[in-house]
Amino acid sequence: MTPGTSEYRGRLAPSPTGYLHLGHARTFWIAQERALQSRGKLVLRNEDMDAKRFKLEFATAMIEDMRWFGLDWQEGPDVGGSFAPYDQSERMSYYRSALAKLRDGGFIYPCTCSRKDIAAAARAPHAEDDDEVIYPGTCRHRMCDEWRATGDARDACAITSPVTRHASLRFRVPDGETISFNDGHFGPQSFVAGKDFGDFIVWRHDDVPSYQLACVVDDAAMQITEVVRGADLLKSTARQILLHRALGLQPPAFFHCPLMLDEAGVRLAKRHDALSLRKLRESGESPEALRRAWQPIH
Ligand code: GLU
Repeated sequence: MTPGTSEYRGRLAPSPTGYLHLGHARTFWIAQERALQSRGKLVLRNEDMDAKRFKLEFATAMIEDMRWFGLDWQEGPDVGGSFAPYDQSERMSYYRSALAKLRDGGFIYPCTCSRKDIAAAARAPHAEDDDEVIYPGTCRHRMCDEWRATGDARDACAITSPVTRHASLRFRVPDGETISFNDGHFGPQSFVAGKDFGDFIVWRHDDVPSYQLACVVDDAAMQITEVVRGADLLKSTARQILLHRALGLQPPAFFHCPLMLDEAGVRLAKRHDALSLRKLRESGESPEALRRAWQPIH
């Protein structure tokens, strides 16, 4: 529990980039069960930061599908609450002030590498369990202060628009340090900074905070005490613990759920149309019957 609060606060944090599928529903169901067991609250946060992929249609569908499945939340974009707004696109000021803290603490640097540069120079191949290559460190020597001193109009660390139009901002990870946490489902976890994951983006070149930063800022601001999410984010948890520390925040507890696989053993994704909650509902499935088929996860 976060100091100062005695109440369990969990959250559901879908991104409206496609229709939700059965894998999301199972993770959310577990989150709901955990909140209920602790007589706590559940918050719905609409992670609509990714303007390119975000669609209003999906945001509306997301809420409808979750409600159909039997999910219920006490705070969220549709019901309000004392930690509003619950749409990330309306929370830019929180992210900007966290970014300013990271800059002032010397935790970040501007990076002008393209994806192609990074792929060409990467030290490690794309890890299968992660979606990010390890950043080779090309721009690592750069400091926000140096950039400011040059008076470069592209000053990537000034934190005012259109600052990051030409550069992204990366978090400098403490190479060699082991980041450990005790996962509520998977038990003790350890990841080595610089080996399992590298310097990661906190602010994108198109002036949008990264998932890592927005998630940490919001989990803290919304006083989330436990994060329940898919096992694909275990390594991101290590990154986020570093961000919590850099921002002087207390990380929540973590509970990662095993991912749901399709018949071929492939992890479910939004492209698995047939297993989208929408299609399942259209084909006459009931949420109760779908849930009965699940193995319990503790
Ligand atoms: N918006 C993220 C996703 O849909 C959720 C990440 C999280 O729960 O921290 O993958």
